[in-house]
Amino acid sequence: MTTAVYTHAACLGHDTGPGHPESSQRLAAVIQALRDDLPGLDWREAPRASRGQLLRVHDDELLVAILEQSTDAQVHLDPDTVMSPLSGEAALRAAGAGVAAVDAVMHGDAASAFCAVRPPGHHATGGQAMGFCLFNNVAVAAAHAIERHALTRVAIVDFDVHHGNGTQAIFEADARVLYMSSHQLGLFPHSGGRRERGAGNIINLPLAPGTGSRMFQEAWVERMLPELEAFRPQLLLVSAGFDAHWRDPLAQMQLAADDFAWLTGELCAIAGQHAGGRVVSMLEGGYDLQALRECAVAHVRALRDPAH
Ligand SMILES: [Zn+2]
Repeated sequence: MTTAVYTHAACLGHDTGPGHPESSQRLAAVIQALRDDLPGLDWREAPRASRGQLLRVHDDELLVAILEQSTDAQVHLDPDTVMSPLSGEAALRAAGAGVAAVDAVMHGDAASAFCAVRPPGHHATGGQAMGFCLFNNVAVAAAHAIERHALTRVAIVDFDVHHGNGTQAIFEADARVLYMSSHQLGLFPHSGGRRERGAGNIINLPLAPGTGSRMFQEAWVERMLPELEAFRPQLLLVSAGFDAHWRDPLAQMQLAADDFAWLTGELCAIAGQHAGGRVVSMLEGGYDLQALRECAVAHVRALRDPAH
């Protein structure tokens, strides 16, 4: 069995305008790096998410706002979050990638999967697009796993440097989902404090600016991985943002590509014990192209070659 990579050309057509950090160059860099450095990955075209799949976590009003065709070059949903004429299609493919990837690992069509998609998703709440995110891709995937595959324990691990406020808000009253996030303290969207526990299913690990490899790994080993292990996830989803890398221009953490490989290995080990190795990872942030290339390769290599 292979590691599948889901992507779609439409995700490159979502145009955020000149100078925007969440550019199509990001995804192009990830795709090129994976093709160059990891031959043998199983590339698949992401389907569109259906309306019903999106409505499991989003309001109808948000669907209308995102999918209404606009001929304007750019529509600002907020100062950071921009849409272009192809953004609706990109958002459907990004969310659909996660749904297809969940189906693939649940049916045994792939051992694990990485969704090389944009726009990212983890800031989008049920009713609001924000923080470069239109639909919450990983939340749509988790809801699909619960509804379609009757799972009762789905873990979402989010190591993007920003807190996934949208994912937390969507699942904070739903104990079938464990949401765990490490993120830099004091950054957008300024949520994700330790006392935000939802129904006991939310675990936040805010980290100080300047946090490097050793502190990061110790914190995960001491506070996060035991909770994930105790939850015994039937499926593990990852919000894979690489903006905690030291090169990233939007944050001040000091991680290296090896740290993402390490954490991915630890996650795969827990998934191997409890979830039949089923891991679906979705690209979130990461705004330095060189760091993004290195980290995506390190992450997907660790998904493809789990140690156990
Ligand atoms: Zn981020």
